[in-house]
Amino acid sequence: MKLADRRTTKYVTEVKKIVRLRGHANNAEILADLRENYPDVSATTIHRVTQRLYEDGELRKGPACLDGSVRYDSNTERHDHFMCTMCGQVRDVSIPQACLSIIKCNVEDCSISGPLTVSGVCDSCKKMWREEE
Ligand SMILES: [Zn+2]
Ligand SMILES: [Zn+2]
Repeated sequence: MKLADRRTTKYVTEVKKIVRLRGHANNAEILADLRENYPDVSATTIHRVTQRLYEDGELRKGPACLDGSVRYDSNTERHDHFMCTMCGQVRDVSIPQACLSIIKCNVEDCSISGPLTVSGVCDSCKKMWREEE
């Protein structure tokens, strides 16, 4: 085993733990969390680890973050998301099959293959708005 591989292996467990704790996280968030315990860890290492976990099916990709970065998801079951367009937070939701059928009718001959993302404003952003008024 090459030294670089061994080092990566050590972080795999840590990265899995962080994503499970956060539910969803991008490489930058994982890196920031990991650096609290491992100040020397590099962005390239995290990139390699998340890519490997994704390829192994241990992580899924959720809706992209507002800055366009890949958001990893610890929930590997098929599920839909609500995403706040103000803060970019996502929440797992499950859209009933009946709704999917209605949507399917409206996309005509295209078929829905991937999970859905419903966009809107989350509760805490709504509260912030109200407080500013
Ligand atoms: Zn929000
Ligand atoms: Zn999710």
